[in-house]
Amino acid sequence: MSDWRIALSALNYGPEEEAAVLRVLRSGWISMGPEVQGFEQEIAALQGARHAFAVANGTGALHLALAALRLGPGDEVIQPALNFVAAANMTAALGAKPVFADVVGVEEPTIDPARIKALITPRTRAVVVMHYGGYLCRMADIRSLCRKHKLFLIEDACHAIGAADGDGVMAGSIGDIGVFSFFSNKNLATGEGGMVVTGRDELAERVKLLRSHGMTSLSWDRQKGHARGYEVELNGFNYRLDDLHAALGREQLKKLADGNRRRAELTDRYRRHLGQSPEWIVPFASGATPSAYHLMPMVARDGNTRRQAVEALTEARIQSSFHYPSVTGFAAFADHRSEDVPHSAEFADRVITLPLHPRLSDDDVDFVCSTLSKATSNLAPT
Ligand SMILES: *Cc1c(COP(=O)(O)O)cnc(C)c1O
Repeated sequence: MSDWRIALSALNYGPEEEAAVLRVLRSGWISMGPEVQGFEQEIAALQGARHAFAVANGTGALHLALAALRLGPGDEVIQPALNFVAAANMTAALGAKPVFADVVGVEEPTIDPARIKALITPRTRAVVVMHYGGYLCRMADIRSLCRKHKLFLIEDACHAIGAADGDGVMAGSIGDIGVFSFFSNKNLATGEGGMVVTGRDELAERVKLLRSHGMTSLSWDRQKGHARGYEVELNGFNYRLDDLHAALGREQLKKLADGNRRRAELTDRYRRHLGQSPEWIVPFASGATPSAYHLMPMVARDGNTRRQAVEALTEARIQSSFHYPSVTGFAAFADHRSEDVPHSAEFADRVITLPLHPRLSDDDVDFVCSTLSKATSNLAPT
């Protein structure tokens, strides 16, 4: 696939996934059908959620969640500046205004409840949180804030599938509605795919309709003789998932707990190597924040250290990345800038994300860390 010696992420696929796809191909039904239904039931069970809806991708899941809440022109949606751009794009797509809040700090790059509170106006309708790297946001504070101000709470849990809070409530099921992505680099990967979960019946009803043209029956129901005609109750989309992807998802779900456990071990190993180094700040270093360990972020002491580190890694054919540039810096959001987000900007300037996936070996982590140490020990002290 690539000539990286150590890739940032890798599929955790085997003969099980191949057999699952074959099973669907041979069944004669490849669009939304029994595999999707099974996948939804299994995700709902994992989440302890009343409803789960499989969708085409995580961005579509966000679109449906926001649309289910009837967000539109005149509404403000507070969300982290440090995020993948999907939540902000989908907010804008509905004509609502994304309002960007800063994160707690470079050591805790998740949305700051104090900044959410400061940004609430009479037009605020909802808050989107994103569990960066799989690490849970300060949900107890954010939940009570949302309850007090009657705001909907949406969880972008695309990094956090399998993580649970201190009470055992799963990421994605702490707020009113949660979304997941199954893009190929996520902890559960189907190529493209996503899920919306909610415990609220009225939101579930809207998500279900909006997912498929606002129509009251699916072609699978009609094929089975469960339904003949249909009504179009509202103006919906087509964000359906198909049975091929759902079958992959069901196999991946069986591997999720072990995969996340291995990710936790590897994270621990990185921290033992780099945690004492003056060149690096390790986010969530206390180990107290529940996580699905999707990303391995390290924050360099300064921009120069990061530059040296990236060069050395690339030289050694170790893939790394930056998650994420602040959304506020993108041209498409130039009109939406609401306040300075210094911690998000600082994090974006200094973060580097290192290889992390269940197939990584201990030796791989040791090699990444020794490459980093060598690179930064050449730096003159500042
Ligand atoms: C991956 C991701 C998305 C988008 O999911 P897609 O399936 O690629 O559309 C949204 N938000 C976050 C935080 C993500 O990591």
